[in-house]
Amino acid sequence: MTARVLVVDDIPANVKLLEARLSAEYFDVLTAYSGLEALKICSRQQIDVVLLDVMMPGMDGFEVCRKLKADPVTQHIPVVMVTALDQPSDKIQGLEAGADDFLTKPVDDIALITRVRNLGRLKMLNDEILMRAQTRERMGLSSGVIELHRNERGRILLVDDSPRSAQRIVEILSRMHETVVQRDLQTALIAAAEGSFDLLIVSLSLANADGLRLCSQIRSLDRTRHLPIIMLVDPSDEGRLLRGLDLGANDYLIRPIDQNELMARVRTQIRRKRHSDHLRTRLAESVELSIKDALTGLFNRRYMESHLKSLVDQAVNSGRPLSILIADIDHFKRINDTYGHDAGDAVLKEFASRFRRNTRGVDLVCRLGGEEFVVVMPNADAPRAFQVGERLRACIAAEPFRLPDGQHLPITASVGVASVESPQDTPAMLFRRADGALYAAKRSGRNRVVVDAA
Ligand code: GH3
Ligand code: MG
Ligand code: MG
Repeated sequence: MTARVLVVDDIPANVKLLEARLSAEYFDVLTAYSGLEALKICSRQQIDVVLLDVMMPGMDGFEVCRKLKADPVTQHIPVVMVTALDQPSDKIQGLEAGADDFLTKPVDDIALITRVRNLGRLKMLNDEILMRAQTRERMGLSSGVIELHRNERGRILLVDDSPRSAQRIVEILSRMHETVVQRDLQTALIAAAEGSFDLLIVSLSLANADGLRLCSQIRSLDRTRHLPIIMLVDPSDEGRLLRGLDLGANDYLIRPIDQNELMARVRTQIRRKRHSDHLRTRLAESVELSIKDALTGLFNRRYMESHLKSLVDQAVNSGRPLSILIADIDHFKRINDTYGHDAGDAVLKEFASRFRRNTRGVDLVCRLGGEEFVVVMPNADAPRAFQVGERLRACIAAEPFRLPDGQHLPITASVGVASVESPQDTPAMLFRRADGALYAAKRSGRNRVVVDAA
């Protein structure tokens, strides 16, 4: 990923300096020399992070930031205020204007790259969520209502063995978040793996332990891999800070800790975590939503099982018949082995299409998996289901299948049929009986239909 960064400063030398450092890290850099120019660029181009000088003639950085955050088109672009002096009042004003983070001139290289990288990722996650929401809306899958930035209250695990430092951090965070303090690395790791934390803040100046070890353990455990990490470092500890970033920590704060910086970094990490969690759960939902088998376009097993349950209930309640059949291609493995997997896939597709053409619309045709197919037939009793099974068996055996290389191959299938016989019947029982019948069909020579005797 390459984030596109807009550097805004009225002094060309400052712009050139930041541009050179960011380009060296392979960021895509654009420049602007006034607030107005910056606003124009942001409204027309895809910008992922803005580095915004505070003191500029005409429109100052605070004003530019307020305008960016007020416009729906640009409100999701993260803004880093670049201040000349380390003035707490500037930070407060910046936060009030909606800034996402701060950098102090002269700008430190590690700080610059870390801030831009974090905010660039946040922006890209944000864009991805918006895009997927649009796709879902286009597909008619959801209303496209997006909930971003709603819940920014987080659960934070703080690992710091200095009571004074820990207490101060908890005080600052408690305005917005819930914080749990751990002094010991081992218990902290267990807590992180068990608890539902949104963020880990770890001190690198623990008396008897190495916070970097925790960072590395957190990144290697499945359960904690996605947990954001912010490190607390002493000003003299740049070497370990760099190692921490290498180990996968996301960001850091230099002691003494500035409360506005703390709040800003925590907010960015929690947003990022929320966004990627959101994408992961949405992905799971989409997979569940996809009710079709990708290869054949038939309904998949998941869908069939949920639907069959309603159909069996309905049949039992109404007293009307319901039958299912399971069809399994004979010696399918040989096709794969002899002609290759692609030939096997082609046979499966053609098989599915013949089944679809030879069943009624109300019949539910599904691919159970592999070379097994199921047809659920509402209103069909056992003799009728046998007829359908026979028709399907015949439509497979009647004509050889065409393989991708043009060869033709005779294919047959065996079919087992079972029907709802009593009000006590369940989908699982129906399945077991159809499967038993299929097994009998295989055993008695294949290419035939057997009805379960109940
Ligand atoms: P039988 O007549 O007893 O049913 O023998 P069979 O070889 O048809 O059945 P078996 O269950 O031994 O082998 C099924 C084969 O189906 C094994 C597996 O490699 C193959 N298979 C499963 N899913 C797919 C698929 O999606 N594509 C392809 N090409 N082959 C698949
Ligand atoms: Mg088979
Ligand atoms: Mg099989």
